[in-house]
Amino acid sequence: MSPYHVEVLFTEPQLAARVDSLAAEIVAGLPEDGARELLLVPLLKGAMVFAADLMRALSRHGVTVVLDVMQVSSYGGGQTSSGHVVLKRDLGLNPAGRPVLLIDDIADTGRTLDFVQRHLAERGAGPVTTAVLLDKPSRREVEVRVDHVGFEIPDRFVVGYGVDYAERHRELPFVGVVVEDRE
Ligand code: 5GP
Ligand code: MG
Repeated sequence: MSPYHVEVLFTEPQLAARVDSLAAEIVAGLPEDGARELLLVPLLKGAMVFAADLMRALSRHGVTVVLDVMQVSSYGGGQTSSGHVVLKRDLGLNPAGRPVLLIDDIADTGRTLDFVQRHLAERGAGPVTTAVLLDKPSRREVEVRVDHVGFEIPDRFVVGYGVDYAERHRELPFVGVVVEDRE
């Protein structure tokens, strides 16, 4: 790994404000007469920090949640995806008939979300709504429905707020871009 540094893209207050407005959007999208309860399904590990903040924002906006997790993998250790999605950990709870909020850190090619949406449908989940913190629409290879997007970003490799580079930088309170240092 050549030397690099991280440049801030979204600050902690920007993230906090957007997560709160995203929760408001998600609540506004719920059926009027339906139950105000969602089964949250964040994808480990990248969506952990976003999901932790989003679930508390949803609570402030009057939604109760049940939490489960899934883990899939497509990225190796570097900055590029292998393009092949593998299920590493399935849901522990039965999603059949329950409204699900699928949460991921980044929509990139769309393969991960496509895979998980199909999987949840196979398991009989109720309506599945998808929320991502970041979306790179220019990278999309698979047409996939993403209902709620925190921020659209260009095709840059980002870290922080749960998102890693070779397992590092998840603890950063901001989202930043990885910039290679020049010789
Ligand atoms: P997709 O399946 O849409 O191509 O990829 C989605 C997954 O790729 C995300 O959940 C995330 O784990 C990873 N990913 C996409 N872009 C980035 C990025 O800029 N930084 C990091 N660390 N992971 C990314
Ligand atoms: Mg991921």
